Amino acid sequence: MPELRKDPVIGRWVIIATERAKRPHDFKVEREIVSQENTCPFCEGREEMTPPEIMAYRENGSKKDAPGWRVRVVPNKFPALQVEGELDRRGEGMFDKMNGIGAHEVIIETPKHFCNLTQLTVPEVEEVIWAYHDRILDLKKDHRLRYVMIFKNKGAQAGASLEHTHSQLIALPVVPKRVSEEMAGSREYYSFKERCVFCDIVRQELNDGVRVVIENPSFIAIQPYAPRAPFETWIIPKAHNPSFENAQKQEYEHLAKILWQVLRKIELALNDPPYNFMIHTTPFHQEDLPYYHWHIEIMPNLVKFAGFEWGTGFYINPTPPEHSADYLREVKID
Ligand SMILES: [Zn+2]
Ligand SMILES: [Zn+2]
Repeated sequence: MPELRKDPVIGRWVIIATERAKRPHDFKVEREIVSQENTCPFCEGREEMTPPEIMAYRENGSKKDAPGWRVRVVPNKFPALQVEGELDRRGEGMFDKMNGIGAHEVIIETPKHFCNLTQLTVPEVEEVIWAYHDRILDLKKDHRLRYVMIFKNKGAQAGASLEHTHSQLIALPVVPKRVSEEMAGSREYYSFKERCVFCDIVRQELNDGVRVVIENPSFIAIQPYAPRAPFETWIIPKAHNPSFENAQKQEYEHLAKILWQVLRKIELALNDPPYNFMIHTTPFHQEDLPYYHWHIEIMPNLVKFAGFEWGTGFYINPTPPEHSADYLREVKID
């Protein structure tokens, strides 16, 4: 059983995930993945190689755990948390811990052995986004859970162990520290300005223009004012909305388009780099907040964080966001 343990000094939870110790490539030096096309468990026709599916968008008449799907969601074979069991909060002397209850799922974005999300069409990317939406709504019904993080690791250096394009979600029984810090900061800003900080960012960036990569009627993609790393990119909805899963239908269409465009620009500009993206949204059942605003953060893995970053939480970024925005704007796609 995995375990959640709380750091007594700064209150950060970590997951001690014993299941994952079985992963064969654990602790080996990362290397580029050799092509896995002939053995890939995410390809259509090899459905029996994954745990039974949780959900799939399928052609009419096709059967569960068989070909005929377009997007397929399965439990992670080496989960960091486990679904079964009760939340048991305990002390261990001065320390706090709880059972590692949660969900760890893989969203297989296409039945074809593609390595990049941008090999999908925009409507196909939109279906992946709907899968995120549907999974969040379902996981929200579980009273033990407080937060769901949807993320993508692309490339071995960004933590992907399979090349077939996929994203993941981890649903947690606690709100992660990074998210509570973001919410606390937004609440603070709201308390003296009476405006949402993200709504203000959208307005200011549209005015200034220098950090905007691309926009459409519902979204803006920017290089943030104080990025941690080169080419860090945020996609922010223009309309105020705290929760990703409560977006309008048309917004998902526009999100699919801008996400595809931004990732394509990053691939072309930076020679298909490893990257991570994360969706930041509100904790479960806190949906009407006037001060929080969901968004996506994309982090290309171009620099290594080392002693200084670990020790201080400061980041040294050699690329001004105004330059990277300019660079990405110029990249021709289509
Ligand atoms: Zn595959
Ligand atoms: Zn807002």
